[in-house]
Amino acid sequence: MSDERPVSWAFVGASNFARTTMVDAVREAGGEVRSIVSSSGERARLFAHDFGIASWGHDLDAALADPQVDAVYVSTTNDLHAAVTLAAARAGKHALCEKPLATTLADAHAMKAACDAAGVVLATNHHLRNAVAHRTARRLIEEGAVGDVVAARSFHAIALPEHLQTWRVSSSAGGGVVLDITVHDTDVLRFLLGRDVVEVVAMTPTRGDAVEYAVMGVLRFEGDVLASFHDAFDVPHAGTGLEIHGTLGSIVMHEVMTPSPVGEVLLRRGNETSPVDTGPHESLYVRSLRAFHGAVRGEGKPAVTADDGIKSLAVALAVLESARTGRAVRVAA
Ligand code: NDP
Repeated sequence: MSDERPVSWAFVGASNFARTTMVDAVREAGGEVRSIVSSSGERARLFAHDFGIASWGHDLDAALADPQVDAVYVSTTNDLHAAVTLAAARAGKHALCEKPLATTLADAHAMKAACDAAGVVLATNHHLRNAVAHRTARRLIEEGAVGDVVAARSFHAIALPEHLQTWRVSSSAGGGVVLDITVHDTDVLRFLLGRDVVEVVAMTPTRGDAVEYAVMGVLRFEGDVLASFHDAFDVPHAGTGLEIHGTLGSIVMHEVMTPSPVGEVLLRRGNETSPVDTGPHESLYVRSLRAFHGAVRGEGKPAVTADDGIKSLAVALAVLESARTGRAVRVAA
């Protein structure tokens, strides 16, 4: 597509996240939201009204047939990501799909294959690697500031707000903390360590909820680097963080597992702990969308590719299997 015209989006799913974050992010990144599709025509109408979107409705095929639409943002419940993305690919539209990319690996691979065959970009909306804190940590690791990395720990336990206690706490639409949060941890740990996960072991509480509200586990990365994680929907006061431990030092990050552009990075070496200047924070999603718009124009790659989405999903599914079986599970993406 030409450089002059803004990338034009169809939003599929009148979701909370599209409302609170993604419409504004698309606009700030220089794109335009042309249409909104919802399973409820009335919800689509209200969404369009609230955001000044020209076209709305419940007919996905009609929205995808619009030649003005370049890209589709998929923020349906998780169980519908695959069907919508496959329809977008069939219509020759680029797709930015929410995480988890799908709920099965077979679906995720089919989505990538369909987008590749159609010659369109498929990206996964994992946000954390767009945070300046995580990008600073990755630079420090690459520069050797902590020596050889030997271990990592991530803390991503939160209280799920009441208005989000819908499909996330039921099994039918791909809910549960692992597909909601562990996939994010995996993506950012893969980004920081520059390695893939080969094996996982995990436990969830056995209190009989419809889906797991909490999980603790260990990811074994290539090169025998272990990363522990704690993700939860029912821990209001833990705060979030991520630590990288190396032979020469440690990187300790506070409040960095969040959609907000916040967080601090500390470098510990010997007896000294110093704050690291990260430069200015910027919206994680605007940054992601700028990269996506570039990829649509043939300039570079999206921030998080389909392959990244597939790999993080594979780890999340292995975590679920480990928690279910009580065994260590090898990861095969
Ligand atoms: P919501 O529960 O707000 O929306 C999910 C879907 O439910 C919507 O797309 C909508 O589909 C339907 N829906 C919305 N309101 C109602 C309602 N009142 N009654 C019935 N159905 C309704 O989910 P979220 O916004 O929290 O999450 C959407 C996606 O975004 C998920 O895949 C999630 O994992 C992801 N997400 C990603 C984040 C990130 O940082 N990358 C952060 C938050 C979420 P329809 O309009 O078609 O009916």
